[in-house]
Amino acid sequence: MTPVLALRSVTKRYPGGVTALDDVSLQVDAGELLAIVGPSGSGKSTLLHLVGTLDLPSSGTVEIDGQDVSRLPDRRLSALRGSRLGFVFQQFHLSDGLTATENVATGLLYAGVRRKDRRPLAVEALNRVGLGHRTDHRPSELSGGERQRVAIARAVVNNPALVLADEPTGALDTANGLAVLELLRDLNRQGTTIALITHDRDIAASLPRRVELRDGRIIADTGDRATVQFSRVE
Ligand code: ADP
Repeated sequence: MTPVLALRSVTKRYPGGVTALDDVSLQVDAGELLAIVGPSGSGKSTLLHLVGTLDLPSSGTVEIDGQDVSRLPDRRLSALRGSRLGFVFQQFHLSDGLTATENVATGLLYAGVRRKDRRPLAVEALNRVGLGHRTDHRPSELSGGERQRVAIARAVVNNPALVLADEPTGALDTANGLAVLELLRDLNRQGTTIALITHDRDIAASLPRRVELRDGRIIADTGDRATVQFSRVE
C-alpha cells in the first residue's frame, strides 16, 4: 500500500545558511496517529511546511499519497493540498463572520465539492466532533475547546489522507486540551491518519508513535521499521 507520506533524505536550508532539516526520512502509513516532537528550533515548523506542501525541500523528496510534490505544477499542488490534507492550528483560524457550519464548509471550497453538497457534509462533520448542537453558532459564541472542534471538523470534512495538527491543544486549558486529544484519538480509531506536531513531551508520550526531532534530525522514531525489527531481534 502506498504510504500517505514519504520523506526521503529531505534537507531544507534557508538563505543565510541555516540547515533546518538535515537528511530526514520518514514514512507514515494510512491509519497512523503519530507525534512529531521536539524543542523550539528543532525543525518542526519547517517539516510542517514541507509536508503541508507550502514549501519545497532543498534536496530529497516529499511524497503525499505517492505524488512527489516538487514535480507538481502549482495548480495541481493546490488541488492536492485541498483534497488530501487537513490542517489544524493552535489558534483555530476560524472566520468570525461565519457560522460553525460555514467555517467547516470552507474546508470543501478547493476540493471540487458542489455548493449544494457542502452544507450537509459540514453538518455531518460537526456531528462527528460532537458539535451537532452548535451548527449555527459563530466562533465568538463558542468556547475555546468548541472552536478547536470546529477547526477539526473543517480539517476532516473532506476525508483527507493526512491531518496535520500543529500544537492543537496549545491555546486550550488542560481539560479542553485532553478532550481535543481524545477527539483526535477517536477520529484516528475511525480511520483518519493524523500527525500531531508538538513540543510537549507528555502529549507525545500519549500517542502510539513518536518521531523526535533535534537540530533538524530525527533522533528517535518509535515507529521506524528498522528500529522495531532491531529491538525484536534483541
Ligand atoms: P521549530 O518549529 O521546531 O521551532 P523551525 O522549523 O521553526 O523549528 O526552525 C528550525 C531552524 O530553522 C531554526 O534554527 C530557525 O531559526 C531556522 N528557520 C526557520 N525558519 C527560517 C527562515 N524562514 N529563514 C531562516 N531560518 C529559519
